[in-house]
Amino acid sequence: MEVTLQNLTKKFPGRGRKKREDVIAVNDVTFKIPDGELIGLLGPSGCGKSTTLNLISGLLKPSAGRILFGEDDVTDLPPENRGIGLVFQNYALYPHLTVKQNILFPLQNLKGEARPSREEMQKKVYEAAGLVQIEDLMDRKPGELSGGQQQRVAIARALVKMPRVLLLDEPLSNLDARLRLQTREEIRRIQRETGITTIFVTHDQEEAMSISDRIVVMKDGIVQQIGRPQQVYDNPENLFVAKFLGNPPMNVFEGRVKEGRLYLGEEAVLNLKGAADRKVYVGIRPEGFVLQEKGPFSCELSGVEVMGRDISVVCKNASSVNPTVRAVIGTDHEVDTENDMIRFSLVSHKVFLFDRETEERICFEAE
Ligand code: ADP
Ligand code: MG
Repeated sequence: MEVTLQNLTKKFPGRGRKKREDVIAVNDVTFKIPDGELIGLLGPSGCGKSTTLNLISGLLKPSAGRILFGEDDVTDLPPENRGIGLVFQNYALYPHLTVKQNILFPLQNLKGEARPSREEMQKKVYEAAGLVQIEDLMDRKPGELSGGQQQRVAIARALVKMPRVLLLDEPLSNLDARLRLQTREEIRRIQRETGITTIFVTHDQEEAMSISDRIVVMKDGIVQQIGRPQQVYDNPENLFVAKFLGNPPMNVFEGRVKEGRLYLGEEAVLNLKGAADRKVYVGIRPEGFVLQEKGPFSCELSGVEVMGRDISVVCKNASSVNPTVRAVIGTDHEVDTENDMIRFSLVSHKVFLFDRETEERICFEAE
């Protein structure tokens, strides 16, 4: 089911005696979700992800704009008539019902012709339970389950009606790291198996990058960029997106372009074409540094962290916006920690330039 958001806006009026300012939680959001895709809605806390999801679900009414499922304008439909499945961070299971009764619940609520027979209901409940592999837990109460198991029950409950659209709001946030990884792979598998168009909300860039066909990056209610995860990582359109994706995050410097060279402080670190002389922000991905004895970019070495797969070199540079600069290099390199200084050359496609005012990306060609 293709989902279309057209100029979707949600304004929460300021309340109280000292009338607070209105909050525009979702600001003129327009995008299409292709049928059968999993979209990661990504951004920092408070950027409007849950509000967007709740507009799609019908739990909230938009201040302006339309929502379409396929050709169907669902903007004025109540949630129960939209054909959606919802999963929240806090599972929201009925504690006094067994797992089976919890999953059964949405079916029992169906009225008239939509209500399946008893046998059909049983079949659907076991199919949904099978998808998330909890057939062995059907007679337990939620209190007798681990967090991961509870979340699987919540997912089964959302799937049992075979929704047109599956909406997941930070579904993995309450799980520990290992379970989070496992459950996210499972959500991906289920989504592929069922082909249900899915919107997955998270503030965790790694989670969104790894699970999504496409990510939508939001800030302050406004969509910043939409694209395939790798494409957005490799071609961020502005400094916010560039900094938000990637771990360790991108290093940001104040620099300038002068006569075809990029300067950080007094050092010309890269030759480039197509960018006019100006002050810029320079973003360098941690993997964009290459250890080189006579490299053009020098930093003060603070320390080295061996992470198993690679080495993090922590250093300082006067042009850096952040207190430290972090370079990630392969373990086949050795860093002499006796040295005070360390020198790098830069990988040009891991270096990004941004306008100092608008923070929009400035494109250039490396020489
Ligand atoms: P996210 O899910 O990305 O963390 P939300 O969509 O929950 O963000 O919130 C977006 C903004 O809207 C925040 O500034 C939040 O404080 C505000 N907001 C959310 N719900 C309400 C509400 N019911 N009343 C007023 N403001 C709200
Ligand atoms: Mg939220």
